[in-house]
Amino acid sequence: MNIILLGPPGAGKGTQAKMIEEKFGLVQLSTGDMLRAAVAEGTEIGKKAKGIMERGDLVPDDIVVSIIADRIDEDDCQDGFVLDGFPRNAAQAQALDVMLAEKGIGLQHVIEMKVDADVLVERITGRYTCGSCGAGYHDIYKPVAKDGVCDNCGSEDLKRRPDDTAETVRSRLEVYSRETEPLLPYYGEKAILRQVDGMAAMDAVAQSINSILAA
Ligand code: ADP
Ligand code: ZN
Repeated sequence: MNIILLGPPGAGKGTQAKMIEEKFGLVQLSTGDMLRAAVAEGTEIGKKAKGIMERGDLVPDDIVVSIIADRIDEDDCQDGFVLDGFPRNAAQAQALDVMLAEKGIGLQHVIEMKVDADVLVERITGRYTCGSCGAGYHDIYKPVAKDGVCDNCGSEDLKRRPDDTAETVRSRLEVYSRETEPLLPYYGEKAILRQVDGMAAMDAVAQSINSILAA
């Protein structure tokens, strides 16, 4: 089974993709994570992507399309994957269709995570993660128990994404409504679009996704 998670920045796609990975064995393919890894490693792609990501713009289509095309050929993806953060515009969606058709791969569900625009800025600007174990936290909703220390592993390496500032979040949200939201009718016409309430508690969202995937 291959699926796409669609929704604005801060909707919780990454969190849910990880749950789907654990529960259904689908590999999480997050273009955001892959690009951040490229930036951290200082590769050619990373050098091109860094400034663009810090502004909240989209990295050029040819870069993300080829990252995904190469990644889905790998062995671990043969039993299924969940796309998180890709496709993000019409050109990427079309490139994905062509790539899947060429490889003879199907797409079973596109799950839209619906979240009210007014909570997104607060969700994103308050979030931080542990650089050691990956645990996620939030200034208001889920702060660490002891300032500056990860509850889970005791590390003091807590970090925020450089694009999680109020200013960049606003551009990311604009880019989402202009470029990515139009994909909803695109997948709606293919009758594979499903919706879940991304405002619900994390476990409740996971439950709704489970019922779609298990059906
Ligand atoms: P979020 O969904 O919270 O904005 P991501 O980690 O998915 O976070 O993406 C972070 C940034 O990485 C985006 O703002 C964009 O610059 C870049 N990026 C990620 N995926 C894509 C994509 N499919 N096409 C173009 N740029 C992308
Ligand atoms: Zn930790």
